[in-house]
Amino acid sequence: MEELPGLAPTVPEGVDTPTAWIELDRVEANIARLQGFADERGVALRPHAKTHKSVEVAQRQRTTGAVGLTVGTLGEAEVFAGAGFDDLFLAYTLWAGGAKGARLRGLHEAVRIAVGIDSGEGARALSDAVRGSRTLPVLVEVDSGGRRTGVQPQRAGELGRAAQDAGLEVLGVFTHGGHAYRGAEAVADAADDEVRSLETAAAALRAEGIEPRVLSAGSTPTARSSARAPVTEERPGTYVYNDRNQVLVGSCGVEDVALFVAATVVSVSLDGQFVIDAGAKALARDPGLGGAPGYASLPAWPDAVVERLNDYHGMVSVPAGSPRPRVGEVLAVMPNHVCPVVDLHETLLVVRDGRVVDRWRTEARSRSG
Ligand code: PLP
Repeated sequence: MEELPGLAPTVPEGVDTPTAWIELDRVEANIARLQGFADERGVALRPHAKTHKSVEVAQRQRTTGAVGLTVGTLGEAEVFAGAGFDDLFLAYTLWAGGAKGARLRGLHEAVRIAVGIDSGEGARALSDAVRGSRTLPVLVEVDSGGRRTGVQPQRAGELGRAAQDAGLEVLGVFTHGGHAYRGAEAVADAADDEVRSLETAAAALRAEGIEPRVLSAGSTPTARSSARAPVTEERPGTYVYNDRNQVLVGSCGVEDVALFVAATVVSVSLDGQFVIDAGAKALARDPGLGGAPGYASLPAWPDAVVERLNDYHGMVSVPAGSPRPRVGEVLAVMPNHVCPVVDLHETLLVVRDGRVVDRWRTEARSRSG
């Protein structure tokens, strides 16, 4: 896999570090581009809010044409429902026992929320949680090759039948082609797998007399190629900011990466390395895709590798004898995987033309359950 060419964004003047900032022009372009594509294909876009966790960004996605939001947890659903988003899909096989059952019921009584299922037991627990209230819509999750959650596509019918028997409304089927992240060469096949699995699952539901209205696919790498009939909906999330791994997997160019972390060089005391004040608590610790070295990249220092992360230290190695930044210099850092990075920052600086023009909160930050 190719390493990234250096294309360094300008670090906004006078920022305290470590601070995450977003380039507003790029965020707007990312939202508009994928929405335009989905519109052209006649496929609904339901962006996954786990990437931005921000009401402001969700509002912009909705204004641009998103039909609703995808969320990964009840906590995210509660934040967005509280902010006026009334069409949510919890794309997760929620176990609705105990406190979660009560929380789901509260949400279900306030907004339209559909939930993922991949077992009869899970479906019955959902049904118990909303008993006495109106019917809860569910989508059967099918595994398209990522081997995480979801039943085999041909089993969608029997599960749909069990859900209906439990008193739930089966809206359709969904899948997440997470195996696209095996590398750029895996993306096209993963997208085909998503389409085929949904097709098979829809047929299995029809064989049980259940007409699926939603066939929902989704990941940032596959969103473009799986946006075709019979798929009715796409759920990408990461596309809004992008990151180094999206560049490596070929879903965007470096010029589309919209979120960076500003970090100050705090030590150059040892040969062959320098240290920045962004560690694991500012950058997260996701590996680079396909064995790309380092926990992040420094666009202005393309040969540097963010080799080790402690809580507040990032150890960056450089080839022996090569130049290094000065202590006190502020650098832009491009995260490998933007979603956990966003979760570490309470606010993001919003930058246009090198100037901070706003600050956006990440209201759903750390709502991991
Ligand atoms: N849908 C589901 C169920 C997911 O788990 C994810 C990501 O983890 C997405 C959609 C969005 O995918 P991406 O992060 O590639 O944009």
